[in-house]
Amino acid sequence: MKSLVWLRRDMRLKDQMALSYATQNSDEVYLAFVFDKVILDKLEDRKDHRLYFIYKTLEKLNEFLSKKNAGIYLLHGDPIDEIPKLAHKLKVERVCVNRDYEQYAKDRDSKVEKKLKDLSIEMLSFKDQVIFESSEILTGDGNFYKVFTPYKNSWLKELEKKEDAFSIRPVNVSKITYKNIKGYSKNITLDELGFEEADNIKKRDVNPSKTLKEFLKRIDRYHEDRDFPALDSTSHLSVYLRFGNISIRELVRSVRPTDTEGKKVWLSELVWRDFYSGFLDVHNNIENESYKYGSVEWDNDPKLIKAWKEGRTGVPIVDAGMRQLNQTGWMHNRVRMIVGSYLTKILQVDWRIGEKYFGEKLIDYDLASNNGGWQWCSSTGTDAAPYFRIFNPYRQSERFDKDAKYIKKFVPELEKLPPKYIHEPLKITEDIEKKFGIELDKDYPRPVADYKSNREKSIKMFKEASNA
Ligand SMILES: Cc1cc2nc3c(=O)[nH]c(=O)nc-3n(C[C@H](O)[C@H](O)[C@H](O)COP(=O)(O)OP(=O)(O)OC[C@H]3O[C@@H](n4cnc5c(N)ncnc54)[C@H](O)[C@@H]3O)c2cc1C
Repeated sequence: MKSLVWLRRDMRLKDQMALSYATQNSDEVYLAFVFDKVILDKLEDRKDHRLYFIYKTLEKLNEFLSKKNAGIYLLHGDPIDEIPKLAHKLKVERVCVNRDYEQYAKDRDSKVEKKLKDLSIEMLSFKDQVIFESSEILTGDGNFYKVFTPYKNSWLKELEKKEDAFSIRPVNVSKITYKNIKGYSKNITLDELGFEEADNIKKRDVNPSKTLKEFLKRIDRYHEDRDFPALDSTSHLSVYLRFGNISIRELVRSVRPTDTEGKKVWLSELVWRDFYSGFLDVHNNIENESYKYGSVEWDNDPKLIKAWKEGRTGVPIVDAGMRQLNQTGWMHNRVRMIVGSYLTKILQVDWRIGEKYFGEKLIDYDLASNNGGWQWCSSTGTDAAPYFRIFNPYRQSERFDKDAKYIKKFVPELEKLPPKYIHEPLKITEDIEKKFGIELDKDYPRPVADYKSNREKSIKMFKEASNA
């Protein structure tokens, strides 16, 4: 039996379901990855750091496999054509994949499966990306949960019941092989893909081991430190989870026994990931539609959108977050919530605009979690923040960045000011400007929107939408 494993968001050689199955049940296993032209054409930045991350990951895997006379075929095109073509050329009986729950991927996979069937090749799919899929954690009525806490409780119970939820048979790497076929290669250059090397500040080590090891040393403080962006105490594992450089099962195993508050709280973050993945799987329409309050009429003022994107709103914590995103391709979770709430509730901009911008910039961009996060911030989602509970960015700033260390890092023009003025530059009088040598408007903008009146306006907007 010969199998082809088509890698997608599971780019690793251990603890990988499709690969484990294929290597345990075949004599020869081939590997392939397709740089999907449809997706690549949508990327605006020729130095896109996600593309670069994928590219480097595959390069590293190929380096390793080459020593074993094996390798990954790197294809560039439409997977719907490329995978059946390669499977046919390799004369495999089976193509193995790990399931992807985004609508685009589901449509793509069913087309590939159909084409393979016409060639008498079977396609097998596996659960790999999550601990529990949408059909595994259900309410008493047999539906997917709408509220996180009962979902989490059910998820945790299921984990205790099903020890096999995070166990897996090992991958037998010796079964992986490669044969030269005309027109196919393990090598492809960035140039051939139409891309360039990412900027240094946006590059990530593609091997997650060091990041995980470092994080496990501080995990027991996670519940206390995670909300303070200056401490930068969260795991930074999101990019590895996104592209599958690390297995979700390995992470769950690494926090067992879940005997400290830090581990418990971190595990529930992983549960949020399953929750949003399952929710998107069941409610495909939320990709483009508000789950609730669909009739809210957003202002979408282009000037305000531009100021927000550039980190020039005059609200330092918001600007620091947006500049962190623009400069590094990542943003701290607490600050994601602050900038998301500010864009939708204070600037009255449609969450889809913020979501799209995050989609362009985040190294860990993941449709399900990003959509979930944005619909949470804008109160339009499932189990979202109630519409009248609006983050006050000034209080958030005082509370979570007391000494303004995080803000100073990304908004250095405010560096000389004492924290109380950094949290709320509206308090800066002419005397303060002179004393600290800063000039509002010239050095740093005044707020582009009035917090108090816009907050009231938002509440009204949502009230109207809820009566609509
Ligand atoms: C508006 C908004 C947009 C977001 N967009 C994304 C996104 O595109 N991709 C993404 O992975 N996360 C997204 N998140 C969730 C969260 O901000 C990131 O997962 C987290 O900041 C990544 O950093 P970390 O790995 O250090 O997280 P940690 O705090 O160490 O958490 C561990 C892991 O748990 C998962 N996780 C944590 N928080 C959440 C959450 N709220 N929802 C779902 N999964 C979570 C992630 O996989 C994360 O890597 C978004 C949140 C908001 C509010």
